[in-house]
Amino acid sequence: MLVNNRHSASTERSAPPRNVVLLGATGSIGRSTLAVIGHQPARFKAWALVARNSVAAMYELILQHSPRYAVLTDPAAASALRQRLPAQVRTEVLHGEQAACEIAAHADVDTVVAAIVGAAGLPTSLAAARAGKRILLANKEALVMAGQVFLNAVREGGSQLLPVDSEHNAVFQCLPASTQGSPNVTGVRRVILTASGGPFRQASLAQIANATPEQACAHPNWSMGRKISVDSATMMNKGLELIEAALLFNLPARQLDVLVHPQSIVHSLVEYIDGSVLAQLGNPDMRTPIAHALAWPERCESGVNLLDLSKHGRLEFEAPDELRFPCLRLAREALAGGAAAACVLNGANEIAVAAFLAGRLRFGQIAQLNEVVMDRLAALPGPTTLDAVLEVDELARRAANDYLLAHPTP
Ligand code: NAD
Ligand code: MG
Repeated sequence: MLVNNRHSASTERSAPPRNVVLLGATGSIGRSTLAVIGHQPARFKAWALVARNSVAAMYELILQHSPRYAVLTDPAAASALRQRLPAQVRTEVLHGEQAACEIAAHADVDTVVAAIVGAAGLPTSLAAARAGKRILLANKEALVMAGQVFLNAVREGGSQLLPVDSEHNAVFQCLPASTQGSPNVTGVRRVILTASGGPFRQASLAQIANATPEQACAHPNWSMGRKISVDSATMMNKGLELIEAALLFNLPARQLDVLVHPQSIVHSLVEYIDGSVLAQLGNPDMRTPIAHALAWPERCESGVNLLDLSKHGRLEFEAPDELRFPCLRLAREALAGGAAAACVLNGANEIAVAAFLAGRLRFGQIAQLNEVVMDRLAALPGPTTLDAVLEVDELARRAANDYLLAHPTP
């Protein structure tokens, strides 16, 4: 079950603001969330901010938002932050992953925004799930990696999972809610995820093969962290999103499609068996899906400029090209291959992207590394416990590092 009606009672205007924990507060999604919260101070309070080691950024955020807690998982960074904060600041600074998990599960917390990048976000998101929090999920890697293990924790904890990823948030909005508030896919023929096509939509295979990190991170429509920017350029992001959609909406791969839409105005579509197609549209600004998930089942203003379709003129659509973007094909193979394959693909891809950003791998080799690791670990059984998930992830990372050793930087 994706959502649970325990949290869905409408918010009284006189009620105190809901306490929000922001995992990944200093990142792109973190800052967009803080912008929405800043727009809605009567409804939401940034109660705790969590990040890895960005002392200067966290310092600024503490002065702006006065959270009850700030957590830096890096202990040295946390102590530098403590020393820097003026004595009159009331925010308590904590350090370490354990502290971040405790904050995500804290009794005073209603909502947890999961916006840490990569597998590093799994422990805190799981802690929030087990504690029955409303989880606004941006961190797709944690879900792809842990799959059913993550969803079981959500169900058993009585937690509520609301998608922030713009495509999945769009699909959520286009599906009717059951009486429990969970999305109902009865009568759905296909869910169609839109993709901008990224910065290399029109580039040749040869141009793509040697693209630089700067070119890969220059996304035409969205300003995002570097990892997801590279994933958008390889279209691995859309691949991860296919797996994310299969898990969130409990749909088989044959009911999931990708459509390239360069303007990023239509954020995804749901096709029904009677021929109706519903879509969610808006300017490409993450504050909209964040505000939707924060206020759900109500609505609140997000500060986003309203969409003026007459100014856009044309909305274009085209089929994706799996030859130039093989990561999309690999994600489909991972969906067909079961839970271990998705976890393997995610772990391999995280190593590949980090190596590419560090100048240790050519852009064209990202998909190659992912495929080699998937082939090598094709026989692994699907993990059914958290320990098994972590083991599969570790095997994938080791195999990916083996590839890097065997293919030194050209
Ligand atoms: P980002 O790189 O801008 O920010 C990442 C945040 O995670 C930072 O605050 C960083 O301090 C924190 N972090 C990293 N490692 C950590 C660790 N070990 N412990 C604690 N904190 C850690 O990334 P982003 O673009 O904001 O993306 C965050 C997540 O949201 C990703 O999973 C991404 O796929 C997803 N997402 C992002 C967008 C977007 O528009 N940026 C859209 C959809 C989904
Ligand atoms: Mg997305």
